[in-house]
Amino acid sequence: MPNMDPKKCPMPSQDPNVRNKNFKEVALGYTAEMAMGEAQRCLQCKNHPCRSGCPVEIDIPGFVKLVAEGDFEGAYQVVAASSALPAVCGRVCPQESQCEGKCVRGIKAEPVGIGRLERFVADWHREHNDSKPVAPAPNGHKVAVIGAGPSGLTVAGDLAKMGYKVTIYEALHVAGGVLMYGIPEFRLPKSIVQKEVEGLKDLGVDIECNMVIGKVLTIDELFNDYGFEAVYIASGAGLPRFMGIPGESLNGVYSANEYLTRVNLMKAYDPNCRTPIQHSKAVAVVGGGNVAMDAARCAKRLGAEQVYIVYRRGMAELPARKEEVEHAEEEGIIFKTLTNPVEVLGDENGWVKGMTCVEMELGEPDETGRRRPIVKEGSEFTLDVDTMIMALGTSPNPLIRSTTPGLEANKHGCLITNGPEGLTSRDFVWAGGDAVTGAATVILAMGAGKEAARAIDKAIKEKNA
Ligand code: SF4
Ligand code: SF4
Repeated sequence: MPNMDPKKCPMPSQDPNVRNKNFKEVALGYTAEMAMGEAQRCLQCKNHPCRSGCPVEIDIPGFVKLVAEGDFEGAYQVVAASSALPAVCGRVCPQESQCEGKCVRGIKAEPVGIGRLERFVADWHREHNDSKPVAPAPNGHKVAVIGAGPSGLTVAGDLAKMGYKVTIYEALHVAGGVLMYGIPEFRLPKSIVQKEVEGLKDLGVDIECNMVIGKVLTIDELFNDYGFEAVYIASGAGLPRFMGIPGESLNGVYSANEYLTRVNLMKAYDPNCRTPIQHSKAVAVVGGGNVAMDAARCAKRLGAEQVYIVYRRGMAELPARKEEVEHAEEEGIIFKTLTNPVEVLGDENGWVKGMTCVEMELGEPDETGRRRPIVKEGSEFTLDVDTMIMALGTSPNPLIRSTTPGLEANKHGCLITNGPEGLTSRDFVWAGGDAVTGAATVILAMGAGKEAARAIDKAIKEKNA
């Protein structure tokens, strides 16, 4: 008999007033008993709609059944057969709009906690099993991957499992991409990312760091001088957007990318690291997505007394995950919605001392279907802050397309491909993840890597047939 509890087993977490002063992980993870109880809520549906919501095609009922039976290692093996980064996905996937959004238990009650169970089995495996994956016999073909973020790691893992010799070229000094520089330690501990990267190296994937493709080597050189038969571009979207308002170049204005990179990758929160960061009293984060929530929660943990999310639409329109908004509210982040900055104000030394904002109201829906924010006449006011963080989205860096003849991009700088398979306008060059979609989610980037791995394998086999 399935467990018919309408609610998911709650996730044990740190108290909000404790966690908003430290960078340790917020969610503490299920115990074995909790995981088995939650897994028993699964109805083992024959048509398993949950699977259609998973971009990396995990056999969800298959692994959940094994968790319910207490076979945690078996469950991990089912997950790992489809996902290169299970401990990551279980933590940062927007499950409510992916697998759990399709779960039939979610029609009348809460869906099965698929993400929480995935996290549990990945953590269980890491803590109880030292065995390393075995690299398959080489098939004699070489593929280069540009970028060691979620999309690049996925394509590399899938191709390595098929016997390809894969080399990932990573621009930073460490692999992981946005998982390392973007997502804070309290949502995704970096040691967990590195453990998953180690698993790929055990499969035979080479990762060359500090390699900026487009500067150190071009894509043409990868083909002509290094003998790669295919290239997958997964260079992400690291170019921040700004508002273009007066005062944005003052000291104390950060892009969210820079702020999060200093905090996460360069560990600015650690007194033993010498990475400089502004220790602010009052911070405004402009934007309403997950990146804005991450930046605000980091600023709070670094000691800011007031941290504001400044967003031009209302609470209902916030693009961030509901869970992230709730966590931010619990930790004391102040939401100033229906508010838009129009000028950053500076002191005599060129540092931020405040910002002029206007109040907004919502009009008719725009082309995106969301109600258009309109300025309320005479609503100008000043918000006293000493730091501003712009979390307004990012676009792909133009370096690779500007050094690769024949590589086409759209007006936003996103590479143009033939659809889900990810073939670009250049023969044997594929692309996926944020480099194609603009800033999106980790799981969509991984799904793109999975599709591209199949397409690359098919094309190389056809060419050599
Ligand atoms: Fe759900 Fe993400 Fe896991 Fe797929 S990878 S089953 S979408 S949590
Ligand atoms: Fe289980 Fe939900 Fe998937 Fe059905 S849809 S198999 S209940 S996880």
